[in-house]
Amino acid sequence: MNIVLDRPVLVLNRLWQPIHTCSVRRALKLVCLGHAQVVQTDGEARYQTHDFTSWVEHSSDNVADELVRTVRLALRIPKIIVLALYGRLPRKEVKFTRHNVFLRDKFTCQYCGVRFIERELNLDHVVPRDKGGKTTWENIVTSCIGCNTRKANKLIHQVNMRLLREPRIPRWRPLFGMKSEAPTDESWVQFLQPDRDTVRLSA
Ligand SMILES: [Zn+2]
Repeated sequence: MNIVLDRPVLVLNRLWQPIHTCSVRRALKLVCLGHAQVVQTDGEARYQTHDFTSWVEHSSDNVADELVRTVRLALRIPKIIVLALYGRLPRKEVKFTRHNVFLRDKFTCQYCGVRFIERELNLDHVVPRDKGGKTTWENIVTSCIGCNTRKANKLIHQVNMRLLREPRIPRWRPLFGMKSEAPTDESWVQFLQPDRDTVRLSA
């Protein structure tokens, strides 16, 4: 397996806002299909964008960087891409995963209100499965092991517990979940600063 191809690439939407990361493999595919361009920064907030042909040419003039080789081409590894899609952006949803439930609940037990590290947390069915509770955003909350054990398969009022807040489907927003994924490349930093737009507007 080629590990270089699995490295993360920062993906910007067409408003140049960071939306998520993808692998080098996927980034190159998007650029090759014309759905994205590679963003190259020179470290001084100047950017150049390259389509696939231009990236191929650029890769051949610079041999200092790491290259990923395909059967016929040697390409530089993109660090950032910007999507070229026009029209409406696809509606995004936050994937229902264990980690994303913890993120929604800010790693805080929804019963006792204490913040824990991820491995000391559990997911709890508010309405237990054996009482018909579903495994959905609205019925799953972050719980510490102590509260989880105390609640067991009861309803909250039966054990005199209450929820900090009603669990809901989180609204997707740029960078959901990216906090845990620290920038792996310095060139990302300028795009990840939340006040970047404000700074630019007031400059
Ligand atoms: Zn707790």
